[in-house]
Amino acid sequence: MSNVKKWEEADHWVEIDLDLCMGVGACNAICPVEVYEVVDNKVTAKNIGECIQCGACQGVCPHNAILHHWAY
Ligand code: SF4
Repeated sequence: MSNVKKWEEADHWVEIDLDLCMGVGACNAICPVEVYEVVDNKVTAKNIGECIQCGACQGVCPHNAILHHWAY
């Protein structure tokens, strides 16, 4: 059974596979608008509404835990 959590806005969303996420926080470090927070060694995208859709977080995750969907 998958353990994927999704945060969404009207035109984009991010999914984190919590089985893959090790809480290293690479996404948190690279995100220019502080969308992410690491809580108990897992990432949350609590500020998804601030996302500027730069795509940096998906590429930087060493465990491929992030899937980001864009409207364009
Ligand atoms: S796409 Fe960019 S702005 Fe949006 S959550 Fe990822 S790093 Fe942050």
